[in-house]
Amino acid sequence: MCTGRAFDRLAYAYLLGLYLGDGHIISKRKQHHLSIFCGEAHPGLIDEAESAIRRVMPVPRTARRHRNGCVEVKSFTQHWTCLFPQHGPGKKHDRPILLTSWQQEIVDAHPWDFIRGLVHSDGCRTMNWTTRVVGGVKKKYEYPRYWFTNVSDDIRQLYTDTLDKLGIEWTHCTRAGKKYNISVARRASVALMDAHVGPKY
Ligand SMILES: [Zn+2]
Repeated sequence: MCTGRAFDRLAYAYLLGLYLGDGHIISKRKQHHLSIFCGEAHPGLIDEAESAIRRVMPVPRTARRHRNGCVEVKSFTQHWTCLFPQHGPGKKHDRPILLTSWQQEIVDAHPWDFIRGLVHSDGCRTMNWTTRVVGGVKKKYEYPRYWFTNVSDDIRQLYTDTLDKLGIEWTHCTRAGKKYNISVARRASVALMDAHVGPKY
């Protein structure tokens, strides 16, 4: 943003979702990097996170660090604060998270990539089941559902605003008195999520 150099906007929409979910930026006098955290159980996501970082910012060095079942994918440059102006002190849920107009333009142009990034960091696809009596016989039915869980009201709002624009039906789900979960369970909406997002891999 500060050099005026073009960057891969599609990869950026995905990376913005990852950053808002499980990323953070360290920007101190002698230490500057972006970190995205991925579970070790999802090697596909780790590769995709690193690939998105390199497509947005090809020049700086990247590295991976394994610890506690997580892989931290890092990219070393202070310019991540220019690309993610949401950077600030403290936790993301303790401060307002609002997109700048140029970020919103990118999300509007690549909404599914943004949703994918958010679900790949703070979401999951699960199987639920229910029983129904058909012709006097009790049958078990399984149905998939997508969850997104984030403590920040603003980040959940960005997720649901984008789902609304895509015509995806969602519901708020309160668990243990906390309204941090967004569920997508209607069949047509799950089918669209499957086509564009899919399970973690
Ligand atoms: Zn910069």
